[in-house]
Amino acid sequence: MRIAFIGLGRMGLPMAANLLRAGHEVAGFDLVAASLERHAANGGRAAASVADAVAGAEVVVTMLPAGKHVAALVPDILAAVHGAPLLIDSSTIDVETARHVAAQAAGRGVAMLDAPVSGGVGGATAGTLTFMVGGTEAGFARGLPVLQAMGKTIVLAGGPGAGQSAKICNNMILGISMIAVSEAFVLADRLGLDRQKLFDIASKSSGQCWSLTSYCPVPGPVPTSPANRGYLAGFAAALMLKDLSLAQQAAEAGGAATPLGAHAARIYQALVEAGEGDRDFSVTYEYLSDLYRAEAP
Ligand code: NAD
Repeated sequence: MRIAFIGLGRMGLPMAANLLRAGHEVAGFDLVAASLERHAANGGRAAASVADAVAGAEVVVTMLPAGKHVAALVPDILAAVHGAPLLIDSSTIDVETARHVAAQAAGRGVAMLDAPVSGGVGGATAGTLTFMVGGTEAGFARGLPVLQAMGKTIVLAGGPGAGQSAKICNNMILGISMIAVSEAFVLADRLGLDRQKLFDIASKSSGQCWSLTSYCPVPGPVPTSPANRGYLAGFAAALMLKDLSLAQQAAEAGGAATPLGAHAARIYQALVEAGEGDRDFSVTYEYLSDLYRAEAP
């Protein structure tokens, strides 16, 4: 298939590489020249502009930082495409913008999917991302072979915006639960309770959750968790703040009470302001541990 890929950043570049590996022709575009060069080195075509990338494409994938970038680019893409390719936006953006651009595309007879991902740079590189998709059944069927080249689990969550809705609901659970697990370990430390003992007991009790058993925020119990490597790499706290902020925006627009989601967003905000934004979001443990006797945000 002839695919255009706009946004060859940390996620986009390895995703485009997997499309190339699957045998697709991929015309890539990014504002950063070095990313275009890396895409060409992977066997892709470095396009000169968005219009150059999308002209003649059967599928256009976007992987951009935020909603404002997607909102700005979709009209340019729609103006430059030939016929009616499928648009797939895999950026994490607000639900409102996702619905708006899908409606804009539909107005031009072009199908669009919102297909945000979970799995991070590791999943993008390995081709094991989870795609949460919003759109029509017909659009999903067209997009499936393309998404399968980049991911392992691909779920149609509902109509336009449903992929973004699923993503922020999931990450709100994750953001809150990571703080809860971190607080439990901080308290255990203060009570003189051995961390491994707490892990062994809670992981088999009602406190069991992914933040504890797969991504434990203290070093030791789960050797693969970022806590064992100084919270480097992993899922950046700044990105968790972004997702929690999107969840708050959606909660306000939709009239949903999410008090813990709001509080979690404030904690990640404080963490980012303390200069921890680039570290893995499970650095909440270290941050909360240092807040001892100080007033929690
Ligand atoms: P990134 O900043 O590394 O990449 C975004 C790329 O888009 C950059 O290379 C930038 O130059 C390019 N870009 C911006 N405006 C452009 C334009 N007008 N034309 C062409 N290119 C343009 O970000 P990332 O980490 O790859 O994340 C991309 C999206 O995926 C974000 O929405 C993010 O929230 C989401 N996401 C990231 C992760 C992660 O672990 N990094 C995990 C899940 C979801």
